[in-house]
Amino acid sequence: MLLLAGGRVVTPGGVLHPGWIRLAGPLIDAVGSGAPDAQLPAVDLHGQWVLPGFVDAHVHGGGGASFTEGTSDQARQAAAFHHGRGSTTILASLVTAPLADLEARAGLLAGLADDGVLAGLHLEGPFLSPVRRGAQDPRHMIAPDVAVFERLHAAARGHLRVITVAPELPGALPVIRAATRAGVTVAVGHTDATAEVAMAAIDAGATHATHLFNGMRPLHHREPGAVGALLDRDEVTCELIADGVHVDDIVVRLTARAAGPGRLVLVSDAMAAAGMPDGSYQLGPQRVTVAGGVARLVDDSASIAGSTATLADVARHALAAGLPVPDVAAAASTTPARVLGLAGRTGALSPGLAADLLVCDDDFRPRAVMRHGEWLAQP
Ligand SMILES: [Zn+2]
Repeated sequence: MLLLAGGRVVTPGGVLHPGWIRLAGPLIDAVGSGAPDAQLPAVDLHGQWVLPGFVDAHVHGGGGASFTEGTSDQARQAAAFHHGRGSTTILASLVTAPLADLEARAGLLAGLADDGVLAGLHLEGPFLSPVRRGAQDPRHMIAPDVAVFERLHAAARGHLRVITVAPELPGALPVIRAATRAGVTVAVGHTDATAEVAMAAIDAGATHATHLFNGMRPLHHREPGAVGALLDRDEVTCELIADGVHVDDIVVRLTARAAGPGRLVLVSDAMAAAGMPDGSYQLGPQRVTVAGGVARLVDDSASIAGSTATLADVARHALAAGLPVPDVAAAASTTPARVLGLAGRTGALSPGLAADLLVCDDDFRPRAVMRHGEWLAQP
């Protein structure tokens, strides 16, 4: 047993200040406020914040390594980079690439999911719209096809958690239904869909939005597009890259208000350059230049190519934009854990869940990270 005491502990019921957490091996045993049971030696947190370990549902890489290319060891390095910075649970996101490459990557990353390094895979492609391609390679985008979905699903060996689909493409609705039946969360994204088409996708089973606003027809008051439909429907959770680059802070606040903490999912969309200096990087088949911390395609500098942020950076930015601490904890941990079907395992500082947490200073910079009851090395 280990006791962490004297912190500002952010729980689903509110902030306990001072609060304590009792840990039993890899699990949280008890959480409380005030003075803890004096029997146990306690680690004094000196009033620092304790947040549930972040759950990042959209990650391509970090620390100079990537999930979209490179070796299995490099993928482990990318996962370790994010774990050590507070994202104790992550999905590995693949981008559009030739099918054979996607199958091979899915197989390789499934091995990391078998080992508990990853919580699963997110396929951000290949069923996307070239019209809203963002930094993705339109040459390898294909129309949605149930047989192709099944091949990719099989390659991921049960670890495919989320697939992004542009619902206006021919064949999209059968793929949305097949994926939903297979227990894979369908996200609407990289789409030029109208609100009507997006509504039909939600009726067919889509329940998630891939980085709302980015890679979508903009919200217009007479044609609210996918953005409007996804925000409007209560069953849909909405990703937001609140990194100060991808969406304006006004949009962060508006979206947080419209979705509420139970439907907002903060994501990093981090690529290999997260935590690294400016320079040249790769995002799947696409070449990327990072300047001033912003990643853009070499061949099309108008396209932002993922972020260089961690989810802790995004959470800190969302707090600076005005979101309350408990709402940020929900949007960076509790809600994404629910989206990924992991609410019974992680996503809150509650007894019985994994001892996944981060200790942050007054500026919400992570000072220590615990994953499954073990302290991780600090940067
Ligand atoms: Zn992405």
